[in-house]
Amino acid sequence: MKILVLNCGSSSVKFQLLETDAESARAGTDRALAKGLVENIGGTAALKFEVPGRKPVKETAEILEHTVAVEKVLGFLTDAGNGLLRDRREIAAVGHRVVHGGERFKASALITDDVLQGIEACFDMAPLHNPPNVRGYQAVRAVLPDVPQVAVFDTSFHQTMPAEAYLYGLPYVLYQRHGIRRYGFHGTSHRFVSARLASLLGRSPDDAGLRLITCHLGNGSSVAAIRGGRSLDTSMGFTPLEGLVMGTRSGDVDPAAVLHAMEREEIGVGQANAMLNKHGGLLGISGVSHDMRALLEAEGQGNARAGLAVDVFCYRLRKYVAAYIGVLGGVDGLAFAGGIGENSAAIRARALAGLEGLGLSVDASLNAAARGSETEISPPGAATRVFVVPTNEELLIARDTCAIVSGTPSSSGVTQQSKPASGE
Ligand code: ADP
Repeated sequence: MKILVLNCGSSSVKFQLLETDAESARAGTDRALAKGLVENIGGTAALKFEVPGRKPVKETAEILEHTVAVEKVLGFLTDAGNGLLRDRREIAAVGHRVVHGGERFKASALITDDVLQGIEACFDMAPLHNPPNVRGYQAVRAVLPDVPQVAVFDTSFHQTMPAEAYLYGLPYVLYQRHGIRRYGFHGTSHRFVSARLASLLGRSPDDAGLRLITCHLGNGSSVAAIRGGRSLDTSMGFTPLEGLVMGTRSGDVDPAAVLHAMEREEIGVGQANAMLNKHGGLLGISGVSHDMRALLEAEGQGNARAGLAVDVFCYRLRKYVAAYIGVLGGVDGLAFAGGIGENSAAIRARALAGLEGLGLSVDASLNAAARGSETEISPPGAATRVFVVPTNEELLIARDTCAIVSGTPSSSGVTQQSKPASGE
């Protein structure tokens, strides 16, 4: 079954066309056929379309709204020269990444009028993300009216967190009135990576005793503590700002420090929001870049503040990992994912340094050799096995979409087949 996966932002549409069904998902042979991007919707948009093994197509075009962007995507896919489909009707379903599902959506859902209202009810909590997600749905409905569409939420995997993990020490009435609590994000990634990690450990992801920590480290970063396939805690909170130090996001900070800064710098809510989300994190500390690769390079050239930003990043991550070992009562496996987690041996080693007493360490040569593919990096015989596990959110969105429209929902959506893990 061919599934179009869309990730719609306020001025962008990222897309992938994937081929999947229950059998290929189980065997792990399902795959992306093409991917691309429409950026800067609302003006002169930049478009990119890539099919593995072919030269990427790049274009610019005046694109003022999402419906036209989706038309363009379908144009790429059905192009007589570069396309893959004879007819747009070959697309069996469309899966959307939806950022916020609130407390209502504990799993992916076929988008009906009622589900749409539920997504709209979360606009308040994700004002930058949920409205463009809905715009993407409406754009598809306008151009492919008969194709079923499915919403896959960043928050739903974390809906298993207990109240003690998701409640803040704020007046309870704020939770009751405004839904102010921890929701957690990157759920699709944590779900995918934890199920793969379980499989690499030779265990079932819903094995009740299995304790896992997954670290999704990209421009946005988060950690999750997972037991028996259920998220028990995660570092992002009411919004994706809390937790780890990120590219431009501060992560944890004393709320009173923010109030103090607002007073002293005479800034309002909008500027404080920008300070925390756009001018903080690795960029804010280093003054050099939000990009980890650039920071590691600058550190190597003697830039002390770049090095400091990297140290703060690694320290915060180590602190969360240690805390989650406490939450889980021990840990059987830990995975690194995301652009930083999959590619930077240096960050993996620095983040886990000092956790040897808790059973966590990396083998220097295995770690140095691991990049972008599923690889064990802990020393042979380690108490806790550590892996690099590339994430694939689009594949999981496609599998969920396929399962829902064909009426065969799967629990994890992640193949249990795996290459044999080293050490087994
Ligand atoms: P996003 O969260 O936007 O999807 P990615 O998961 O692609 O981002 O991660 C981007 C981050 O990964 C950037 O900070 C980038 O510098 C970092 N990164 C990618 N490759 C490397 C590498 N080889 N070493 C260190 N950092 C890397």
